Amino acid sequence: MEFDLIIRNGTVVDGSGAARKRADVGITGDRIVAIDDLSAATAGESIDATDRIVSPGFIDVHIHSEVNLLDPSNPRRHGALLQGVTTHLAGPDGFGWARLKPDLARDLYQAEIFAYGEVPLDFDWPTANDYLSLFPGNSPANVMPQIPHCAIRLEVMGWEHRHATDAEIEQMKVGVRDWLDAGASCLCLGLDYAPSASSDTRELIELSKLVAEYGGIYATHQRYNDLGGEAAWLETIEIGRKAGIPVHVSHAGVDEMTGRIMRELDDAVDLTFESYLYPAGCTDLTLMLPIWASAGGPESILERANQPELRAQMVDHLQDKLKTNKGTARIVFADNPGKRYIGEEIGDVAERLGLEPGEFAMRMIVDESPYCLMVYLRGWDDATTEKMIRETVQHPLMMVASDGIYHGASSHPRGAGCFARVLRLAVREMQAVTLEEAVRKMTSFPAERFRIGDRGLLRAGYGADVVIFDEATVADRSTWTEPFLEPVGIDRVIVNGRTVILDGTPTSETPGQIVRRA
Ligand SMILES: [Zn+2]
Repeated sequence: MEFDLIIRNGTVVDGSGAARKRADVGITGDRIVAIDDLSAATAGESIDATDRIVSPGFIDVHIHSEVNLLDPSNPRRHGALLQGVTTHLAGPDGFGWARLKPDLARDLYQAEIFAYGEVPLDFDWPTANDYLSLFPGNSPANVMPQIPHCAIRLEVMGWEHRHATDAEIEQMKVGVRDWLDAGASCLCLGLDYAPSASSDTRELIELSKLVAEYGGIYATHQRYNDLGGEAAWLETIEIGRKAGIPVHVSHAGVDEMTGRIMRELDDAVDLTFESYLYPAGCTDLTLMLPIWASAGGPESILERANQPELRAQMVDHLQDKLKTNKGTARIVFADNPGKRYIGEEIGDVAERLGLEPGEFAMRMIVDESPYCLMVYLRGWDDATTEKMIRETVQHPLMMVASDGIYHGASSHPRGAGCFARVLRLAVREMQAVTLEEAVRKMTSFPAERFRIGDRGLLRAGYGADVVIFDEATVADRSTWTEPFLEPVGIDRVIVNGRTVILDGTPTSETPGQIVRRA
């Protein structure tokens, strides 16, 4: 038999969770053709994977990479691919811009720019498929669409901070259907972000019913800001139950409260969640404003900040949020347009300037609008962090996803380190899960959940997305101070049969395809 490519002598961890086995992997074109003893077969190219793990390419269901993948000038373009992440789900947190008039799309992008940075795009995509057509031939990774609720709502209601009428919900379904027809499997929410934060539960249930008809799911950055932790989880569960839709919670971990909620789930709710397993979050500073104050995006925030009474309320709210019972919350400047105070804690800078933290935060929001990207340190000790990692990664409903951000002077290390860190820390050092189980949580589990039919397993007929790595040395190197250091121990990353990472260095290949709902 003749193949384009054979990966020989490797130890196959096939993504299913099954025990490893010695086998060769034969690839022709963009497909896996055989997994077997192929010592008698010939190939255009042979790779020796002796003493290496051969696994499916990893799938990241929550990653802010899509527009950066299209930008050859972005030095972080391959930040996730360097870890073996070959399929990226677009639209995390409901962020997206297709179907909007270009001016409105740009407006929304400004509100979400903290997660992406400046990109050379024209924002003129009248349909979901117009946007998706950017990727084939231009992206080194596969991209799967999700339905971005921020854009769906903005298209129908603009920035209005109120609940939708029945007629408006019906109009939103036109946009939802367009994304479903383009192959999206998931309605994606960022309920702390404008304009989605203005929705009520009823709107989300009604849209979810339509998505459920297509066999899709509901994935959410929950309403933490407005409802707080437990009520936010209960809203998600209510949506799952009333819309009859599987639900997925973004960037969550197991703690006393979430562990209890998941133990007490009844059979009517089909729930999963994803975690990046670091003791810190990362988002825009405006997320600390009350919902009414951030409604309308950056320009509206500035208008309110010019009205003394509203400004005073915003400062009070910021002060409340920043002042915890143990002192000032530990929040570090990761990036902003003026590159000010990068790497410094907000409380330290405020003290130096002789300002209360709330007043200082307000000044930064106004001066640096449209964004101050921040790293929110949880302030846990090592034992607490280790307990969180162990209980989270061992949870049967948990899959790995990075929430990676690929711009910024001092962003969160998760974007360049999350997957490699799980293999180093959770598998090798803590032995909290087996390698086979960790790989399953990066491959077939997200593929099944997000309805990707032919990725996530090393099987004949599946897309030829493959990672070859050394289980003894694979490790993240990204840190809080050097967040984009690339991982080590990953020899090769293959997307659709073509090598995009070789010995830790990106090639010039752009074999990424659009992955659509099976
Ligand atoms: Zn989020």
